[in-house]
Amino acid sequence: MGSLVGAGVCLYLTAASALTLRYVTPAARRSNRLDSRLSAALADAITCNAVVKSFAAEQREEARLSELAGDWKSTLRVTWTRHLVAGITQNVLSVSLQAGILLLGVWLWSVGRATPGDVAYVLTTFTVIQGYLRETANHLRNLQRAVNDLEDVSRFSTQPLGVDDHPGARILKAERGGIVFDRVTFRYPGKETPIYSDVSITIAPGERVGLVGASGSGKSTFVKLIQRFYDVAEGHIRIDGQDIATVSQRSLRSAITVVPQDPILFHRSLADNIAYARPEASHAEIVAAARKAHADEFIGTLPEGYGTLVGERGVKLSGGERQRIALARAVLARSPVLIFDEATSSLDSISEHLLQEAMEDATVGRTTLIIAHRLSTVQTVDRILVFDRGRIVEQGTHAELLRRPGGHYRRLFETQVFGLTGGADAPALPA
Ligand code: ADP
Repeated sequence: MGSLVGAGVCLYLTAASALTLRYVTPAARRSNRLDSRLSAALADAITCNAVVKSFAAEQREEARLSELAGDWKSTLRVTWTRHLVAGITQNVLSVSLQAGILLLGVWLWSVGRATPGDVAYVLTTFTVIQGYLRETANHLRNLQRAVNDLEDVSRFSTQPLGVDDHPGARILKAERGGIVFDRVTFRYPGKETPIYSDVSITIAPGERVGLVGASGSGKSTFVKLIQRFYDVAEGHIRIDGQDIATVSQRSLRSAITVVPQDPILFHRSLADNIAYARPEASHAEIVAAARKAHADEFIGTLPEGYGTLVGERGVKLSGGERQRIALARAVLARSPVLIFDEATSSLDSISEHLLQEAMEDATVGRTTLIIAHRLSTVQTVDRILVFDRGRIVEQGTHAELLRRPGGHYRRLFETQVFGLTGGADAPALPA
């Protein structure tokens, strides 16, 4: 009877593990995968809700979601059914074992090889063991479910970081904000041809530099490299003489403030949004920064002033107002390097003019890079770098560059100023 109990326990545990790992797990993995796809589709549709509405595509999105939800539902049903079948099979096995032991006991008693006490003892022992077996199988199933649910997260956490701090990375001591590109070669991951080959350029502390060039010429990549969103393949980028690859990313990025093309605000008060750059700033400092960014005027007209909540992503403000809040943030940040990423490209002329004035104020004494689409933004900067297919093909002030007949900048300028009046027939600037 002991041998039968031992064999039964082994059989039960083997069956429970096999059912869990080979039968339930594959189905659980499938339904988890579809669960992630459904969440991703939902997030995509919700964050793009303005586009969905403007194309009256609600039904299309709904159909897409319900198709995914349908797939998810059917795989989830399979997973639940398999859970159920695994549980029932384990119970049937357990009861069959109990019946087998009882039959063996009765037979041994009938042939005089066991006493009623022996049979009662073995049955009672098996009942206790059975309880433990059931618990073990349940734990196994729960463990499997937890492991399946965590699989995505653990896979994500083991992904190597694209850009990592070097061991012993130092804190960047950036006070003046001088930037040097020293023979930099860079290609995006997975791309064969480099965007930059052997690019060298020095930007002096406090200099205001405009980056211009056709779309795709490498302007944004230039500022992404300064922020070390990617590591360069060859060469070095230095800020105030320190190689940015050897300093901590945290210290590097806190030395740089970016005013993006389309700033996103938190659904918090305007004061909190401005103070995001420096949470410990006093209210007076926040107001001073807003004043410098010409944001104070419109904030004054809001019923709750600096306490106004701006809606998710700042939707309750116009593009120009959001830009001015982002600029106030940049003023407050006091970082030595400021980057404007086409900050005025989506604004009308009046907002652009206001922002331009604010930019002039905010950039005094700070190294400033301005990625500009509209060349009007960079007419007053110290130096303009003209990008063409990853190369800096020209540099100089607006006036100097305009004096170069057939130059890249001059061509860009002519296209912008006269382009609307008739392309090839447009009048050219005097040589
Ligand atoms: P610009 O700012 O002048 O419009 P970018 O610096 O954004 O130009 O892009 C330069 C080139 O690099 C483009 O050809 C673009 O397709 C490519 N590029 C930009 N970002 C990536 C990326 N994350 N992965 C691969 N290629 C990219």
